[in-house]
Amino acid sequence: MERQRLYIDGTWMEGTDIKTFHSINPATGERLAEVREAAPQDVAAAIQAAKKSFSETREWRDMDVQQRSNIILKIADVLAARRDELAKVETMDMGKPLRESECDADDAIHCFRYYAGLIRTPEGGCYEVNKGFGEMHSYTVHEPIGVCALITPWNYPLLMGVWKIAPSLAAGNSIIYKPASNCVLTSVKLLEILEEAGIPKGAANLVLGPGGTVGDALAESPDVGMVAFTGSTAVGQSIMKKAAGNVKKVGLELGGKSPNIIFADTDLEADVEWAMIGIFMNQGEICSAGSRILVEESIHDAFVNRLVERADAMTIGNPLNNPDIGAMVCEGQLKRVLAHCETGKKEGAKCLCGGERYTEGECAKGYFIRSTVFDACTDDMTIVKEEIFEPVVTIQTFRTEEEAIRMANNTNYGLAGGVQTRDGARALRVVKELRAGITWVNCCNPSFTEAPWGGYKMSGIGRELGIHGLEEYQEVKQINIALRPGTVGWYTN
Ligand code: NAD
Repeated sequence: MERQRLYIDGTWMEGTDIKTFHSINPATGERLAEVREAAPQDVAAAIQAAKKSFSETREWRDMDVQQRSNIILKIADVLAARRDELAKVETMDMGKPLRESECDADDAIHCFRYYAGLIRTPEGGCYEVNKGFGEMHSYTVHEPIGVCALITPWNYPLLMGVWKIAPSLAAGNSIIYKPASNCVLTSVKLLEILEEAGIPKGAANLVLGPGGTVGDALAESPDVGMVAFTGSTAVGQSIMKKAAGNVKKVGLELGGKSPNIIFADTDLEADVEWAMIGIFMNQGEICSAGSRILVEESIHDAFVNRLVERADAMTIGNPLNNPDIGAMVCEGQLKRVLAHCETGKKEGAKCLCGGERYTEGECAKGYFIRSTVFDACTDDMTIVKEEIFEPVVTIQTFRTEEEAIRMANNTNYGLAGGVQTRDGARALRVVKELRAGITWVNCCNPSFTEAPWGGYKMSGIGRELGIHGLEEYQEVKQINIALRPGTVGWYTN
């Protein structure tokens, strides 16, 4: 069985404690690989390697920006050459349909190319300032932060890593990357790719292992200047507290429970399809999933009947064979989802399809659940309030635009929201009122490397992707220059 190792200071290593855990294929239950767990000393070594790379050797930080950009482009090229291999491994490790892993790999390649291009364009600003201290020129430059710890979840193992690695490295930081422990295989391959492309020793380090030990140590270290975290809101809150020790910069991409509002002036087929993309893509293990459908009362029956008909017809099976829906990431996640469904039923929601473990044929040993639709839901139900990360959608009805907006915003989260209507003015009105960082009109769930991604309220702080995504990993320095050096007569004596 293949063994996955840590990558610290340019060396692949076993880790001090020889502790291991296993990577499991969730579609078959088979063991894919043995993974070495980082001990506290290994995390400390990775932090020191990154610190030395940033503060002493400075090879990456001081590299000619065109050369740095070329290395990032080379990463994209090597990734492109290994795209099919990575997609297959991702699917076996995480359970999503192969074609979705292929899209993720393509997005990852594009993301590296995008940030390689972005750092070649001029940045910073020059300000017209008052002459209180004499004639001055005031301008800003962007600089790297230093050592950045990047902690990611399991739902898009490759892509969530790349969303952080590409901009943080492009900005000239040295990084320590910690992927979620149940899906590490493509992260290890990604570090191999960085090495092959010529990232200098110590500039990119990989530590594997559980969040409680490895992640905690990164969040607490006074030598780490920033923690960029994607994961659950509860862990994000604990990272914020730990980061307070040395006033680290934190970037938090957290959970969501996003509304998808369907008005009656609808193109039913299109809206049903977008609703399905919104909740069933990636088995619903998407932070921005449109997991709360709010449908105008007059079209409730037509919309729900069609949604259930199509959800029920979705194919399910080994994700390598490209079914519509793959396996849940692990047994624990499947159990959480099933418990959530049971709670939904007990609280009075009506399960119209799915809601139970699926074990037919090739799904016998894997962690599968069919696409699930709950009707007759209310705001106070657990399945409407809590994010579980599942292919489960709740249906609620509304009568007026105001009611839809109130229900949409009745959540602690604020990651995303969709509005389906052919009335352009109404779409603009509703989107303006949604307290969410990502909104969709007549679609649900697309995201783009070029556009900022992030949440309001308890869904996070900061933005990934786009120009904002690069700026997250930069400090801004103000430089003021007196154009006529000399005394200014500020004091009278
Ligand atoms: P999680 O919070 O359990 O874990 C995320 C990462 O944090 C993992 O690498 C984990 O090992 C690590 N971790 C766990 N405890 C830690 C601690 N005490 N200190 C430091 N690190 C720790 O989340 P998950 O189950 O992997 O992913 C699902 C969650 O991620 C969902 O809530 C989902 O909404 C969220 N998510 C958000 C976005 C977004 O862009 N907003 C994207 C994907 C996933």
